[in-house]
Amino acid sequence: MVVTRFAPSPTGFLHIGGLRTALFNYLWARRNDGEFKLRIEDTDMSRNSAEATRAILEAFEWVGMDYDGEPIYQSDRFDLYRSYIIRLLDEGKAYYCYMSKEELDRLREEQMARKERPRYDGRYRDFTGEPPKGIEPVVRIKAPLEGEIVFEDGIKGTITISADEVDDFIIARSDGTPTYNFVVAIDDALMGITDVIRGDDHLYNTPKQIVVYEALGFKLPKFYHVPMILGEGGKKLSKREGAADVMDYKRAGYLPEALLNFLVRLGWSRGDQEIFTMEEMLEHFDPSDINASASQYNPDKLLWLNAHYIKNSSNERLASLLEDFGVYLLAHDKREILLDIFKERCKTLKEMAEQITEVLETPKEYDAKAIKKAMKGDASEILARFGRKLESAGELHLPTDYHSLLEDFVKESQIGFGKIGMPLRVALTGRLGGPDLSDMMSIIGKKETLQRVENFLRHMDMNYAS
Ligand code: GLU
Repeated sequence: MVVTRFAPSPTGFLHIGGLRTALFNYLWARRNDGEFKLRIEDTDMSRNSAEATRAILEAFEWVGMDYDGEPIYQSDRFDLYRSYIIRLLDEGKAYYCYMSKEELDRLREEQMARKERPRYDGRYRDFTGEPPKGIEPVVRIKAPLEGEIVFEDGIKGTITISADEVDDFIIARSDGTPTYNFVVAIDDALMGITDVIRGDDHLYNTPKQIVVYEALGFKLPKFYHVPMILGEGGKKLSKREGAADVMDYKRAGYLPEALLNFLVRLGWSRGDQEIFTMEEMLEHFDPSDINASASQYNPDKLLWLNAHYIKNSSNERLASLLEDFGVYLLAHDKREILLDIFKERCKTLKEMAEQITEVLETPKEYDAKAIKKAMKGDASEILARFGRKLESAGELHLPTDYHSLLEDFVKESQIGFGKIGMPLRVALTGRLGGPDLSDMMSIIGKKETLQRVENFLRHMDMNYAS
């Protein structure tokens, strides 16, 4: 059985790099009917992690990624880690080291002066004498003294590290707390993780973790180290580009399936296919196909995907999602036409909410530039005449009803369409943008249209009368 995990350190919110790692692990486990587990790496007690953990769980919930069992918290497992430290000490695979900080610093300086890589020199590895007084020892693990540490990375190929690059590293600090690489290896082994998919910033932790696996006789998992996501121009991803909180994408009006689709394509591909439903990802994703070079964040592509998923969402779902953006359409009598129109033209829910609000609400102010452009010459008169025609028209409902009325009006008045189009637009929205005029009038209805025309003419009268 394939068992994967996502193991965030809850030091802040979840960003998209983290979410992508989680997604890869999730897909690989689910594709193989395996298990996907969550482990919170909260051993660094100095930082408050409860809130960050909540943020991670919230993001998982939003994107609909479920995990198996309860999350495991490393902070609950100190006794367990300690028992493995004692076991390694008992078996002679780890030892107490009494080197003081000053001695360690001195050693490092000497090595640097000789242009050597700083590393612990193993001086307490076989120590049997009387330990120096007044020093709380650390515990170090015996790393191989010669040869190489070799492992197969599912993305990067064979990784070979010379034994002298891995020193006898600390597994327990002098206060007894276990160190990072030690607990990760123990947890992965005890949680039965078969496939570790993680960022390649961890590549050089892996040899250390392998030392722990081997000392404890645990079976090694498969490793996949995923190249990072780069920002524009190949630089580190900036906050603005996407290093921000995953939940900011929700607040900005992205659909979770668009974000997941976007993320799966950062580093993984299948031919030139861009759109992947969750089912398709589950059918095809394989971490061995992840690209060995870094991928690049492209915000336009995310917008494009989001527009695609918005367009293909049901009106009912959109109406309920838009409530988060202050637009309440579930019981609105013009819900269908409104959403049919705006889902075709908006790239985010936020944009959709703004445009819908603009149509539904009577303008509170009018853009002076739009007025200057739209209200030249006898524009007010034309608009007033259109108002009278609309008033005397019978019942109008559909956009086509309004469209015919506009066409008649243009013909009778012998004017170009813009002569009524522009003033009417400003009257209805306060500016020169917005959707099709006939659609807009059909949505707000005859009475509200007349009201807006009247309001605008009054505004013109009061502010622009010569
Ligand atoms: N806690 C580590 C991180 O957030 C991940 C460790 C791992 O995946 O092995 O980067």
